[in-house]
Amino acid sequence: DIEPRQVKGALFTWVRPEEAKEPELLSVSPAAMRDLGIREGEEKTEEFKQTVAGNRLLGWNAEKEEGGYPWAQCYGGWQFGSWAGQLGDGRAISLFETTNPSTKTRYELQLKGAGITPYSRFADGKAVLRSSIREYIVSEALNALKIPTTRALSLTLLPHSKVRRETLEPGAIVARFAQSWLRIGTFDILRARGDRALIRQLSTYIAENVFDGWESLPARNSNEDDKLGGPVGTGVARNAIEGPAGQEENRFTRLYREIVRRNAKTVAAWQAYAFTNGVLNTDNTSIFGLSIDFGPFAFLDNFDPNYTPNHDDHMLRYSYRNQPTIIWWNLVRLGESLGELIGSGANVDSEEFVEKGVREEDADELVSRAEALITRAGEEYKAVFLEEYKRLMTARLGLKTHKESDFETLFSELLDTMESLELDFNQFFRKLSNLKVRDLETEEHRKRAAGVFFHHEGVTGIGNTEESARKRIAEWLERWSTRVYEDWGPNGDDEMRQVEMKKINPKFIPKSWILDELIKRVEKSGEREILDRVMHMALHPFEERWGWDEKEEERFCGDVPKFDRAMQCSCSS
Ligand code: AMP
Ligand code: MG
Ligand code: MG
Repeated sequence: DIEPRQVKGALFTWVRPEEAKEPELLSVSPAAMRDLGIREGEEKTEEFKQTVAGNRLLGWNAEKEEGGYPWAQCYGGWQFGSWAGQLGDGRAISLFETTNPSTKTRYELQLKGAGITPYSRFADGKAVLRSSIREYIVSEALNALKIPTTRALSLTLLPHSKVRRETLEPGAIVARFAQSWLRIGTFDILRARGDRALIRQLSTYIAENVFDGWESLPARNSNEDDKLGGPVGTGVARNAIEGPAGQEENRFTRLYREIVRRNAKTVAAWQAYAFTNGVLNTDNTSIFGLSIDFGPFAFLDNFDPNYTPNHDDHMLRYSYRNQPTIIWWNLVRLGESLGELIGSGANVDSEEFVEKGVREEDADELVSRAEALITRAGEEYKAVFLEEYKRLMTARLGLKTHKESDFETLFSELLDTMESLELDFNQFFRKLSNLKVRDLETEEHRKRAAGVFFHHEGVTGIGNTEESARKRIAEWLERWSTRVYEDWGPNGDDEMRQVEMKKINPKFIPKSWILDELIKRVEKSGEREILDRVMHMALHPFEERWGWDEKEEERFCGDVPKFDRAMQCSCSS
């Protein structure tokens, strides 16, 4: 039996991309160019094309053998709840880091699908065009929706590469970038190796080089504890740990909490925009709180909390409804990897501890302190998640304030209504933005307005008649318009409310059926322009028009063709 070589004492391997024969640069994201600080027009040069295809190594001087050489990261992971051992970048190779001169933001540029690495295990290191198109579009779409995510700069077709999946498919490379590609899996592998020193080194690296230094990671204050002990907490907060506040919370705990908060915010945004990742293993959970790894992802069509885009996810582990829970499950794995550091309190830098770890007689105390801190971080996770979810949903509903009762009477009731009537989640908010509150004054009016939310073929959802559906939506609209009047005043500027709502409620969402059509047109019909068109819509999702073909634009913003609803993906990409 041949086993992939296990890396020791390190978290990456130098490796260069395979040569790409006659690469065809299919599309470049203008937003990515801007954010990386690349001059406009640069994308038309041969240099650019060869760089994003992996043929030219920027910064590496081959003659002198110096400068930056590409690398692949090593990590492990819990996949579908089981420990999967060493994984790593099996088909991603990082080229270099680059800092945007005006924003000072640093990114790591990486090629996906550029050939095998020491972490490819039994696979080919390649990516097919189909999945590359999906990743290229969705990365930029999420960013345009202000959801933290890894980004995509370009999409390159490899005309001479045929990749075996279910059939033979064309290969492609996505040049992608992120402020960090580190994942919970990066810690998992170190914990599995028992490499205490490297866990400390990696944590320090993240605090100092990925975030803005240890000082930038806030310590808990009693205010926050009060908030956590309040309506959303379960009362664990302040008294969970003995001793004066602050004393037991060392810098590693602050780092852990930062990672927890970032992920809480990102999941909240996924839930508020009905985005499902589909494979939330720990190797696909970012330390920086980014949406990362786009395999079978999907935006929900009609609202169905049990929907998972992953064809193999029979347990619905990665369904829409489970995302907040599963990200927390992953964050607990991270807490365990950091357990020794966060549980050691003020002892963390004592020479004896750094060298040998916790003394036998102190082990129980350390473990229970680490557990308490993780539990408390869990309260914070919940609180931050709810706060962000509330903020986004409030804005999506065009409200200026949040009332505690909104959760029940507006949010929950809306989700139940959408589920029962099988309404399209994101379209609902955009259509709501277009309604005038003055047109919702009588029951008659509201029932008429309700019609805009139906699918083109009429009411759906088992057991609903058109009359009962209109009645249910009308009831919700009444409560909603009351809240709009409350927030904007009886003579409020309703046009302004509409404008504000359209800034947060996208008209265009890259649904699975659109990506599927795009793939067919690029792959089978050899179309090219369509890629830039769809990318343009994804980059400007809040516009009304995109200056293309009005009919096509409307079709891409319209209903899901009936037979394409709630598509699922297999993992082979
Ligand atoms: P994922 O399910 O996309 O998170 O991938 C899990 C692991 O499999 C990661 O380590 C990937 O790098 C690796 N992997 C997936 N597809 C390939 C491939 N075609 N070639 C090499 N490694 C792959
Ligand atoms: Mg992955
Ligand atoms: Mg993947």
